[in-house]
Amino acid sequence: MNAFQKLGLDADLLRAIEDMGFETPSEVQEKSIPILLEQETDLVSLAQTGTGKTAAFGFPLIQKIDANSKKTQALILSPTRELCLQITNEIKNYSKYKKSLNVVAVYGGASITDQARSIERGAQIIVATPGRMQDMIRRKLANISSIGYCVLDEADEMLNMGFYEDIKSILSHTPKEKKTWLFSATMPKEVAKIAKKFMNDPVEITVGSKNTGTSNVAHEYYLVNHRNRYDALKRLADANPDIFSVIFCRTKRDTQKVAEKLIEDGYNAAALHGDLSQNQRDLVMKSFRTRQIQMLVATDVAARGIDVDDITHVINYQLPDEIETYTHRSGRTGRAGKNGVSMVIISKSEVRKIRTIEKIIQQKFEEKEIPDGKEICKTQLFHLANDIKKTEINHEIDPYLPTINEALEDFSKEELIKKFFSVEFTRFFNYYQKAPDLSSETAGRPEVSEGNTRYFINIGSKDGFDWMSLKDFLKEQLNLGRDDVFKVDVKGSFSFFNTDEQHTDLILQTFSEFNHNGRFVNVEVTKDQKSDRGGRKRERGGGKRNGKSFRDNKTDNFKGRRRSDKNDKKGPRKGSRNKNIENSVKRRRSKA
Ligand code: ADP
Ligand code: MG
Repeated sequence: MNAFQKLGLDADLLRAIEDMGFETPSEVQEKSIPILLEQETDLVSLAQTGTGKTAAFGFPLIQKIDANSKKTQALILSPTRELCLQITNEIKNYSKYKKSLNVVAVYGGASITDQARSIERGAQIIVATPGRMQDMIRRKLANISSIGYCVLDEADEMLNMGFYEDIKSILSHTPKEKKTWLFSATMPKEVAKIAKKFMNDPVEITVGSKNTGTSNVAHEYYLVNHRNRYDALKRLADANPDIFSVIFCRTKRDTQKVAEKLIEDGYNAAALHGDLSQNQRDLVMKSFRTRQIQMLVATDVAARGIDVDDITHVINYQLPDEIETYTHRSGRTGRAGKNGVSMVIISKSEVRKIRTIEKIIQQKFEEKEIPDGKEICKTQLFHLANDIKKTEINHEIDPYLPTINEALEDFSKEELIKKFFSVEFTRFFNYYQKAPDLSSETAGRPEVSEGNTRYFINIGSKDGFDWMSLKDFLKEQLNLGRDDVFKVDVKGSFSFFNTDEQHTDLILQTFSEFNHNGRFVNVEVTKDQKSDRGGRKRERGGGKRNGKSFRDNKTDNFKGRRRSDKNDKKGPRKGSRNKNIENSVKRRRSKA
């Protein structure tokens, strides 16, 4: 018997579940579904974003609906039109083998008469945003006077958005005997108030502890000097070439400003805040969904209801005013069983807020350093190699190949590869070679101090390591003490770590012919590991930059795709704006 069958779901639902590829119920599903199927009861169910709450109420609801009657039997209220459409879609998927079941979405910004017509044809389930539902009721376009179930989905967000009065008024048009199911990620006072006022002795289900962040989200903070906040953001993006992220700012103004700067600096970014029209917001969301935007800079209010599953990083450009809000932010990533990272850029004075958040989310933050230029270069280089590997050949270039081949005929494959990568790498390297260390912790004291060695190792998160397990692994192999391996920084297919110089020989020896799970493990001392303060020797990439971008050769529909021909370094002139630096860089360049 399959795990969903055990919950008491019927054959039509089980078939649909199988089609969707769900194998095991999530915890909130496991706890909510049997209760809702077996009992006629009110329910309060608290579980983090991304834990499958839609199915937790959707499955039992579908099973309880009488599909032979055309009467509206259930109303699902949800905070935004995005979510409203998403829930409608999910319900349609779940009920695909219940042919006569109709679900209609009711939300603002679309024709109310069309929606009314769909309802008239018979909608057993209505999924609505509170505002539009109010309109519908007022104009007698929908009748919810005999519904059996009302679901308040993402109740905390609905209340955050000020829908209390609407909800109250909508509920007043529903029968007293109906059952109310409330689903929420958090339980602030307002939600408790709704539960108390409008619900009848509800069964309470809590998954995880209240307000706890999802455990597949890693929380990291980066200490920087206040004025380096923006540069730090850029580095975090550069160090994660596949980033697909939401960046949170406190105000509309900052949101707009950061987005504009990112766009100016060649990133795929856009702003999302309340000053945009619904139309503009839709456009931004559409581009985000289709990945034309990699970095969405948003205010907390505007980001409510962003329901995109694959967000890799949430970046807190500033911490929220209300510490509770952090849970909402970090819940945008790590959805649907995927891993996510929530990064916080803070200045020293804010560290104590991190401690408060740790208590709320009951998870520890890892303090990390803003990646240095060298690391970023390496990451970008390997990313480029990977990109090349994946690139499909464009045969439009065929006619030019004879000439190109002729020009390059004297070079071997090895030489060509070296040259090709140098073209890209040297440029990237040049942008970063003079970039200062941004972490306020280390700024001002010798960075990777004399006596330390930094290593590159060709295993990383793809091999199942995180910084802790890699540290343990290294300590074990090398028989070293607790703090002998440090600054462990795990990337996808490789990692970095430091040890005291005295261990260098041991390490290189240990890993000279080392196998881990059948894989050859290679450790190298990273070149140029010292900071280049004081004009120390520096790797010379050879040649001037040619002003062409790192990625210009890709497509041309990526206005905004990351272009790295900008200098990461803020000039010595305090407070000078990006543009000025840009210009001064250009001037310097043209002199060269
Ligand atoms: P929540 O409302 O708790 O934020 P959703 O209901 O939107 O979460 O679900 C998040 C994602 O997880 C959706 O893409 C959904 O299809 C998927 N999902 C839900 N339940 C399961 C399951 N049992 N197995 C696999 N994926 C699931
Ligand atoms: Mg939900």
